[in-house]
Formats: sequence, C-alpha cells, structure tokens
Amino acid sequence: MSKRNGEKCSFCGEQKKQMFQGEGALICMDCIEAGHKMVQQIIAEQAQTQQIDELSLDKLPKPEDIKNFLDQFVIGQDDAKRYLSVAVYNHYKRLLQKQGSDPIYKDVEIEKSNIIMVGSTGTGKTLMARTIAKMLSVPFTIVDATVLTEAGYVGEDVESLLARLLQEADYDVAKAEKGIVFIDEIDKIARKGDNPSITRDVSGEGVQQGLLKLLEGSVVNVPPQGGRKHPEQEFIRVNTQNILFICGGAFDGIERKIAQRLNTQVVGFDAQQKQQIDQKNLLQYIAPQDLKSFGLIPEIIGRLPILTYLQPLDRIALRRILTEPKNAITKQYQKLLAMDGVALTFADEALDYIVDKAIEYKVGARGLRSLVETVMMDFMFSIPSGNKSELHITQAIARDRIEKADQLHIQNAI
Ligand code: ADP
Repeated sequence: MSKRNGEKCSFCGEQKKQMFQGEGALICMDCIEAGHKMVQQIIAEQAQTQQIDELSLDKLPKPEDIKNFLDQFVIGQDDAKRYLSVAVYNHYKRLLQKQGSDPIYKDVEIEKSNIIMVGSTGTGKTLMARTIAKMLSVPFTIVDATVLTEAGYVGEDVESLLARLLQEADYDVAKAEKGIVFIDEIDKIARKGDNPSITRDVSGEGVQQGLLKLLEGSVVNVPPQGGRKHPEQEFIRVNTQNILFICGGAFDGIERKIAQRLNTQVVGFDAQQKQQIDQKNLLQYIAPQDLKSFGLIPEIIGRLPILTYLQPLDRIALRRILTEPKNAITKQYQKLLAMDGVALTFADEALDYIVDKAIEYKVGARGLRSLVETVMMDFMFSIPSGNKSELHITQAIARDRIEKADQLHIQNAI
C-alpha cells in the first residue's frame, strides 16, 4: 500500500489530501476510519452473541466467581449472594444439560431454579439481580407485579413482561429466551388470607395463575409492543423454559407468620432450640410455608424453589454503601468533579452524618443518594465555572446543606 495525494477516494468519491492506494483503488482516511468503526461494531456484536450461544461449563463463571462479582457492587447480604450464585450457576448448567452426553444421567432432568428473594425495600434485591445480568451479559428486565392483571382486565397481561425482555434483547428471540426477568413486588399479588378466594381476585390470585405458565416454562404468544392483546395483532412466540425468573418482595409482616410457625414447631419438645432463635432477624428462618401463609399460591411457590432473604441494612452497611461499591455514590461525584479538574474528598464525620440522617428520615440505602445529592447540589452548580482544584466536604458543610433542605423533599426523592 502506498500513499497518494490529491486524488479521488474510490469509496466516497471525494478528493482528499491524503490517500492510500491498494490494488486498483484509493481510500481516504475518513473511509478507513468509518470502516474501522464498522468492523469494531461487528466484532462486538459477534462477541456478545457468542457469549450466550457458546455457553460452555468451563467458560461459565463458578458460584464463587459470581459471588465475588456481586461483592464488588452489593454490600453484605452474604446468604442471598450465595444462594443466588448457586442458583444462577445451576440455571446455566441446566441450559447445557441437553448438550451433555453422560449416559448415566441422561434421564435426569435438571429442573428450573427460579428464585424468590424476601427482604425490605431498598436492601439490594434489584441491585443483585441487575448485577448478575450484567455479569452474564444476558438481556434483563424488571417488571413490577402490581401493574399486572389477569387477562381480560384493565392493566397489563403477564405476557407483557416478556415483551419487555424482547425489547431488551433487540427482538432477538433466541437471546431473550436466555435472559433474566426480575419480578418486583411479588408480595403485592398475594391473595388476601390463606384460603382460596370465593370472589374473583383480579390483581392477586388471577395474576399468580397467569404467571405459573411463564415460570414453569412454556411457549407464550407475546404481543410485540407489550400492553394488551388484540386479535389482529401478530404475536412473537417466546419459549420461557430457559428464562430465569427472579422474584422479589418486601412481604411486610411475614416475620409474624415465621414466628407463629417457629413457636408451634418448637413449643413442647425443645425449649432450648427456642431460645437460640434470633428474634431480631426472623427472616433468616423463612420457609416456603410462610409464603403460603402470606398468600402466595402453592403452585407459584413450587415454581420458585430457591428461597432466600435479605437482611435489613444497619448503620455499618449503610456507611459502607456510601463508599465501597464499585460505583458508590461518593465515587460517582468524585468522577464528576474530576472532570472539572477538582479533587473531591469527604470527611469521615460528614459521611457518618449522612448515614445518621438516612436512618433518622427512614430512607435507607435509596435515600443515601438524595442526601449526597442535597449536599453536593450547590457545588455542582458553581464549581465548573470556578477555579478551585480541591473540595473537601466536612461534617459542618453536610449538616448545613441537609438542614437547609426540606426533609420531605429528600423523602420524596427516593
Ligand atoms: P430493593 O430491590 O431491595 O427494593 P434496590 O436493589 O433497588 O432495593 O436498592 C436501591 C438502591 O439502594 C440501589 O440502587 C443501591 O444504590 C442501594 N443499595 C441497596 N442495598 C444495597 C446493598 N446491599 N449494597 C449496595 N447498595 C445497596
């Protein structure tokens, strides 16, 4: 290839200063650049589909790898992380089972390991599901169970959650069929009370029934745009057999059901065991029958075989969340200001103060963001046009900004 100047490019047809000559053709720098971008995009796309298509056991992250990855983003919640790591690993092993050829186990079918996570709002359920999807680079979608209604009623049909997954997968059905769906607020579709309802329960039991077929794995007709089905609409057929469903819910008050069960189990035969029960954190003893007492139908519980819980976040956890995760909120502000050439630091006492306020306002981990935002707002406005090279947030600054702000505003911002 040799250099030529001032001639027309064989690709864009324009006269350019610097050209490269090949066999019977000239190419300009702009066309080389455009071609390079296209090649890179193709390579990236191929790599992503390969990652999912060529799933192999040796390439699959092991449960310990999955947990280590989660540790970088999610503070605490060790039990849930371990359960989730194993469940996800087994799920992808299950995808591989058809390719496996071990004759001893050829009739053994590994069942789906859909997951249900119980824990107060803002303790990291969504974050955990999202982080796993990021690690596996599979399509991921979050659906709020409260928007779903039984087919034929006002609201979204359960199929709409697959429409969203399809959207995330750019309508690549094969890709969507290996994705992860996070169904939030699953507790809100519990039926009221432990008994099957006599009257119709449009947004509760009916939706649970609708979800059953999705969870267990079947071919579902999905309206491409989500929302309601119309007879004249063309459907996309999606097989949910290999889609991993992770459900989450706060299940407010379920501790009472757990306590009742533990009391009736223990009374009379092992008083010592009763004493060992950690009354402050009853969630750790959660069992499938507690979900049933809460109002999930047994069929749903059976299709969510992995049950785990998340701890409420204490002061220490909240303090760690401020600074430790890979994309911790303080790190995000440091990055933002670094782009203006300003080194941002926080005094330990300032961070302690922010945590105290999160506890006082009862806003949990979600509130940490709006509290830090409140402290940083004025600086974010003035710093880009100033000539500072450092900013140190002291406790006095944090207190001044938060006290000036409206508590309601902070609570409403989450
Ligand atoms: P949930 O789904 O349990 O209601 P989220 O996962 O949506 O709660 O948490 C809300 C936000 O709070 C997250 O985006 C994250 O910033 C923060 N957060 C909550 N729990 C944790 C945790 N254990 N570790 C790190 N950040 C957390």
